[in-house]
Amino acid sequence: MNGLMNLRKRIIAISLFCAIFLTVQLTEATAAVMSNDIQETTAEHNWVEYSTDIKEFEVGTHEITYWKNFMRYTRTCTISHVIRTVVYYCDIHDITKSETFLEDIVHSEKHSH
Ligand SMILES: [Zn+2]
Ligand SMILES: [Zn+2]
Repeated sequence: MNGLMNLRKRIIAISLFCAIFLTVQLTEATAAVMSNDIQETTAEHNWVEYSTDIKEFEVGTHEITYWKNFMRYTRTCTISHVIRTVVYYCDIHDITKSETFLEDIVHSEKHSH
């Protein structure tokens, strides 16, 4: 009789364990389906301009020559790119992206090209 009770307890314990295990698996499966749903809606972004940053980068130099009082002079001109970086934020997916634009090309020396 005692042995039978023990067996019953054991079966209950095993089935409980199975039930928990199944529940966890089901929850994981549901979570996977839900994250798939989110990935399918990534086309629908709500990009909002978050910040704008303008920086100047030196990209190179070149020699310029000019005449003054019948003398030929050379000077070094520094070329810089003005780059605007815009950061966008999507509150639906809590992600950011950035885009860069070449705003201007600046020569440090005034000269004709
Ligand atoms: Zn988004
Ligand atoms: Zn120049």
